[in-house]
Amino acid sequence: ERSLSDADPAVFAGIERELDRERHQIELIASENIVSQAVLEAQGSVFTNKYAEGYPGKRYYQGCAPSDIVEQLAIDRAKQLFGCQFANVQPHSGAQANGAVMLALTKPGDTIMGLSLDAGGHLTHGAKAAMSGKWYNAVQYGVREDDHLIDYDAVEQLARASQPRLIITGGSAYPRHIDFARFRAIADAVGALFMVDMAHFAGLVAGGVHPSPFGHAHVVTTTTHKTLRGPRGGMVLTDDEAIAKKINSAVFPGLQGGPLMHVIAAKAVAFGEALTPEFKAYSRAVIANAKALAARLQERGADLVAGGTDTHLALVDLRPLGVTGKDADEALERSGITCNKNGIPFDPLPPMKTSGIRVGSPAGTTRGFGVAEFREIGDMIADVLDGLRAKGEAGDPAVEADVRARVRALCERFPIY
Ligand code: PLP
Repeated sequence: ERSLSDADPAVFAGIERELDRERHQIELIASENIVSQAVLEAQGSVFTNKYAEGYPGKRYYQGCAPSDIVEQLAIDRAKQLFGCQFANVQPHSGAQANGAVMLALTKPGDTIMGLSLDAGGHLTHGAKAAMSGKWYNAVQYGVREDDHLIDYDAVEQLARASQPRLIITGGSAYPRHIDFARFRAIADAVGALFMVDMAHFAGLVAGGVHPSPFGHAHVVTTTTHKTLRGPRGGMVLTDDEAIAKKINSAVFPGLQGGPLMHVIAAKAVAFGEALTPEFKAYSRAVIANAKALAARLQERGADLVAGGTDTHLALVDLRPLGVTGKDADEALERSGITCNKNGIPFDPLPPMKTSGIRVGSPAGTTRGFGVAEFREIGDMIADVLDGLRAKGEAGDPAVEADVRARVRALCERFPIY
């Protein structure tokens, strides 16, 4: 058998380039992480060859005994990790997991309610551009203008007025804890089902350093590749047997065909890792590091949306620094620091420009950065942004070259792969 480098040098070169990028850039995209060699190996395994439609013990094809082993391991470990009764580990992604819940528990045209995109919600929670916004009567709640926190009284009023079938919380850029008990009380008051999409903070729940949605939500969805540090994928969890049955039918045959058994094998590996004491230490460090980075950026003149963070991410309001999100993320990429521009609540700038950037600590924490390193990263970011302010959108080449060298030195102290 020929190796990839031999068989397809063009693709191999792309992968080598990505490996070099991951090794030598500082990754601050809050939804990304760095998986273990074991997760990579499982995902790159021969399970990519296998069709295993159905569920362990109830497959439509022959030859599924090995698939049953790894899928059952993933299910059992997921249940243990989150202390819940049922897990469907087959969704190909977070969007698929959310789609499966909609298919299981709602009908097109039903009213659903989610956190709006501009307040930190996700496309799949009822945004206009997404299926959830097109096929449902999607109503959206937001955050308060003064403190950027979810306004639970406003959520309750909206729920009473719109009588949703499903209330969703969770998001992609909400840096604070969410009051799950309050949401459940609102859902109960209007006869709605309550779903938590914990995609961003699932690893923190698993590590015991973030409030758990279990005991409150009827159904919980997540991605497996963010703070949870597994392969790209999704999962649906619940304590309710009737809901679990509907979810299983919705994932397959409702929404998907064959499960990605190589990804499910990698999910099992990642969940096994998340059950270890090392993962608890990692999840504690993720939060300490995000707080350290956010605090340093604030000391250097930025504002923090919602005043700071309880989680792995901070949303940085750049207006006091006089730069836009677009100019900032481009200048930071030139400097070896990867993050994304992000709208802030009530952003006066359009989505392609934005007034903010989103920064997260999971990937850096995984490679070993601690509080001192994250404060240093805060200084590097602030230096680049000061250069932008002084020199305009092209930035200050001397400052960016200096930061590039500091980034490289830091990354070399904490090697990956
Ligand atoms: N839910 C939330 C809260 C997310 O942040 C994301 C991804 O950004 C998703 C769902 C969708 O996950 P995926 O990209 O795997 O479809």
